[in-house]
Amino acid sequence: MIVPSPLSKVHLKNFDANAKGDIKREDAEAAVKELRDELKTLQEKLYSSGEKSLLLVFQAMDAGGKDSTIKKVLSGINPQGVHVASFKAPSKEELDHDFLWRIHQEVPAKGYIGVFNRSHYEDVLVVRVDNLVPVSVWRERYDHINNFEKLLYDSGTRILKFYLHIDRDEQKERFQDRLDEPDKHWKFDIKDLAKREQWDAYMQAYEEVLTRCNTEYAPWHIVPANRKWYRNYVVMTAIVNAMRDMDLHFPEAQAGLDNIVIPD
Ligand code: AMP
Ligand code: MG
Repeated sequence: MIVPSPLSKVHLKNFDANAKGDIKREDAEAAVKELRDELKTLQEKLYSSGEKSLLLVFQAMDAGGKDSTIKKVLSGINPQGVHVASFKAPSKEELDHDFLWRIHQEVPAKGYIGVFNRSHYEDVLVVRVDNLVPVSVWRERYDHINNFEKLLYDSGTRILKFYLHIDRDEQKERFQDRLDEPDKHWKFDIKDLAKREQWDAYMQAYEEVLTRCNTEYAPWHIVPANRKWYRNYVVMTAIVNAMRDMDLHFPEAQAGLDNIVIPD
């Protein structure tokens, strides 16, 4: 996995979407299982102590694996403590507010893990590539985003952002799979082909995001994502490492528990 140093210029062509580190597939899969058990305990501590929260942001090109990564990494976690928000094209009401309004409503409360499947970054990705607002409007948003994330961080939210990096050939294969397999037809969206045409413009927009919004308090992780097993391993490792670092504990027992006798 690559965590670029804060605010250094990112060139995505230097990042191999096929990378698989030096771990073997079976070892990575075994590690994911073990890490998931640890994640369960960490999440219970987060939930029971109710002092901090964790926000996981997932961005990728279409078919990049956002849904399956979320499913894989969070399966087995107590659903009561997790909230997943998927951001689609904004409604009329949402458009009548500032772009962070709908996002702020979905950030995790203390004790919770919040997961963003797409996010406020769409407001400098699709919005920029499709010219949905004037340049003068989206230009300011990188600063708005950094300030917003700082506010969350200062309020006790740990933020991890994942860009699942697939290449164009891999996307073609995954689209083809969606067409070939009846169970995957529902995932195919004809509009995704138009976005595929805009690949280079998206890469440029992502590079700016990964450069300008990669801060100490809310780092981006560029995840090689052509190989699903490696992608899962990388994301799981980053989440568990971050949570280990959050210094989570079960709350202190109430005084006097030792003397309690449960009546018949
Ligand atoms: P999906 O993730 O496949 O359900 O698709 C959701 C769609 O909503 C994608 O095409 C996104 O680009 C689009 N979307 C998400 N956020 C925004 C936004 N702020 N402005 C415009 N389109 C958006
Ligand atoms: Mg889609």
